[in-house]
Amino acid sequence: MENTFADTLEGLFVPWQAVRAPEPRLLVHNEALALELGVDLSLDVFAGNVVPDGATPVAQVYAGHQFGGYSPRLGDGRALLLGEVIDRDGRRRDLHLKGSGRTPFARGGDGKAAVGPMLREAVIGEAMHALGIPTTRALAVVATGENVFREAGPLPGAVLTRVAASHLRVGTFEYAARNGDVRALADYAIARHYPGLGYLEFFEAVVDAQARLIASWMLVGFIHGVMNTDNMAISGETIDYGPCAFMDRFDSGTVFSSIDHMGRYAYGNQPAIAQWNLARLGETLLPLLGDDAVEQATAVLQTFDDRYGRAWREGMRAKLGLAEADAAFFDETLALLQAQRVDYTSFFRALPDAALGDNTRARALFADPSEFDAWADTWRPLTTSPALARLNEVNPVYIPRNHLVEEALTAATNDDLLPLGRLMEVLARPFEEREGREPYAEPAPDRFNGVYQTFCGT
Ligand code: AMP
Ligand code: MG
Repeated sequence: MENTFADTLEGLFVPWQAVRAPEPRLLVHNEALALELGVDLSLDVFAGNVVPDGATPVAQVYAGHQFGGYSPRLGDGRALLLGEVIDRDGRRRDLHLKGSGRTPFARGGDGKAAVGPMLREAVIGEAMHALGIPTTRALAVVATGENVFREAGPLPGAVLTRVAASHLRVGTFEYAARNGDVRALADYAIARHYPGLGYLEFFEAVVDAQARLIASWMLVGFIHGVMNTDNMAISGETIDYGPCAFMDRFDSGTVFSSIDHMGRYAYGNQPAIAQWNLARLGETLLPLLGDDAVEQATAVLQTFDDRYGRAWREGMRAKLGLAEADAAFFDETLALLQAQRVDYTSFFRALPDAALGDNTRARALFADPSEFDAWADTWRPLTTSPALARLNEVNPVYIPRNHLVEEALTAATNDDLLPLGRLMEVLARPFEEREGREPYAEPAPDRFNGVYQTFCGT
């Protein structure tokens, strides 16, 4: 194991140790990812009870804008960076424990995590990966054998082992810019993620990576739920699965997070919030940019819309099987889905039949199916056969539906890991419709709609 972060960036971490997990038990082990990383770690490592050879665990410090307000010192309150490994493709990846006990950055928190939320991070992260979306991933989840205390009462505790391209966040830059050496941090980030670039080009590369990432979220209906600047990775990976969820019925105002009262992080706001966060990153780089720093950084920031729009339109073109992107038609399509609150994922999956003139599958999703018929009459002439032939390769049939995730996490919290295993197996191949898996493609029962809430920091 290597520790280039700790070897290079004095002032951005404190060496720290995990607390002992009394009775660790393995709940999830990601064999495929372990192979990719070329590691074979023991249960005691995943539990934080043993430090792997050559590792120097550290708690990283960062700041962040949370719901728009600045917190000067957040940091890993309940997490540790164990170190880095080089995977079989030569990429440097962080190994990180979450839920491993209090650190100097814990503030009022207990440093712990519960089984449900750590499994949720594993399930959603692996689903995102299978959907082709850049993401941190779960290598393992262990139950610690002790209870953690939450509003809901005592819950079984857990530690997640997370793998990431790095844990450098926009919030890491915000902290370094005010307390340390932002140049050293930028040099490190450039060498690790965007080798050879200058500081302005680095900013541009992060803007580009985030524009593409957010477009990919929007295209699958993913809602992060807590897009604070400390939860935005410089690498362009999705990070920190808290109150996240996939949208079912299309509504751009969808919010699932119980703490997002103003809807700041609603589905439809995500691109604008990403750009806002990137502005905070840009500010930290100003001292490195020389003359006209503000003008230059502003010009780069303003390219976000274009980069995002291009990625999204190309994705939507493919999702609809069109010959070319057609912004007006996209607006019309989303307006239709919004007006009838159509199940977003099922809609796209019904298109191959509709392309052949059979609207049955799609009509079943609409309260007023005649509107779909009219839409389809406009749609068909815009499609091409090669694009139509690929519809099922870009539109997933299986996403982590909220009711299924809840069911699997509740069972796992009560020691039944079967539903979780089945769900993860289905989500690992999201584009391939399989017999016997029909319930996994179904929208939630009606009683579930409009009441689903997700919780943060648990
Ligand atoms: P999050 O909302 O998970 O991104 O966390 C925001 C901040 O709160 C980070 O600094 C976390 O380390 C910290 N935090 C969240 N939960 C806990 C906890 N149970 N104990 C200590 N720190 C926590
Ligand atoms: Mg976080």
